[in-house]
Amino acid sequence: MTMDSGLRDSCPECAAPVAPQDRFCEACGRNLRVQRTPVGGPVTARCACGGAEFDGEGFCARCGRARVAVRDRVEFVLPGVAGVSDRGRRRQRNEDSMAFGRVRGRGVAVVVCDGVASSERAEQASQTAVDTAVDVLLTGLQSGADAEAATADAVTAANGAVARLARPEAAEVAPSCTFVSAVVTDDSATVGWVGDSRAYLVAGTGAARLTTDDTWAAQLVAEGVLTEEEALTDRRAHVLSRWLGADAGAVEPQSVTFMVETPGLLVLCSDGLWNYVPEPEDLLAVLPRGVPPVEVARGLVDVALEAGGHDNITVVVIQLRGGNGS
Ligand SMILES: [Zn+2]
Ligand SMILES: [Zn+2]
Repeated sequence: MTMDSGLRDSCPECAAPVAPQDRFCEACGRNLRVQRTPVGGPVTARCACGGAEFDGEGFCARCGRARVAVRDRVEFVLPGVAGVSDRGRRRQRNEDSMAFGRVRGRGVAVVVCDGVASSERAEQASQTAVDTAVDVLLTGLQSGADAEAATADAVTAANGAVARLARPEAAEVAPSCTFVSAVVTDDSATVGWVGDSRAYLVAGTGAARLTTDDTWAAQLVAEGVLTEEEALTDRRAHVLSRWLGADAGAVEPQSVTFMVETPGLLVLCSDGLWNYVPEPEDLLAVLPRGVPPVEVARGLVDVALEAGGHDNITVVVIQLRGGNGS
């Protein structure tokens, strides 16, 4: 599904009719200027066969195929930024979420969150986190707030919102998720993160990882207990040391801010991608060149799918202009 806010004629949340100039859906209140994964079940009414009738279990009355959930594959494109989120080949649901938006003349804000599979309602956790955080970041861009402060505020707000999803009687599986965000203006970029979703910078002929994983394995590597190679295969590799959720306590993101001096790309992704291309050189080797951000995002998702697609895959690609305006 591709949605472009300029061309939309129905609400992506509730399918109510909306006009291109509408900022909010009158029926459900959804902010139509923000591109984000939909919360719930299908809103596109048709099966691949063209049938529009489904039985109570969600199978097409005409051809019997299972109804495709809207979340299984989502693509968004805005000028200078594009994202693709895919269920992958092995998981039942896509529990990754992404949201991004632009403030004209100011810049772009992006959030990617990966629902923790061992927690309940993981997709609701990640969706709640991206929704809450992107609102804070876009408001910060609008008002000219410091990007690192806005990122910390976004994480605090998202953590609180995800924590409120928890049921007291199921505290041990409280909904939880990772977090990575970017606030990009003409000349600077701020990346913030909690957990093991990552950001990479690609500029010229080189690439660099901007984030360090909040995992027990990464911590053991930092302490010299494990080598990088051992960490990749260690069963603790993906056990998070920090996350968002009711059992996370107060959370402050790690963050990095850099000046954008040359054109390049900022890539935000869930571990469904980076498991297959962990090192910046690995990512660089498979990165589509000379194509728009959406083609880069699709190409990277394809790399993960072709390698097995063991997890949900989300990739958001932001074009860095290096002072040339955007
Ligand atoms: Zn609506
Ligand atoms: Zn059908």
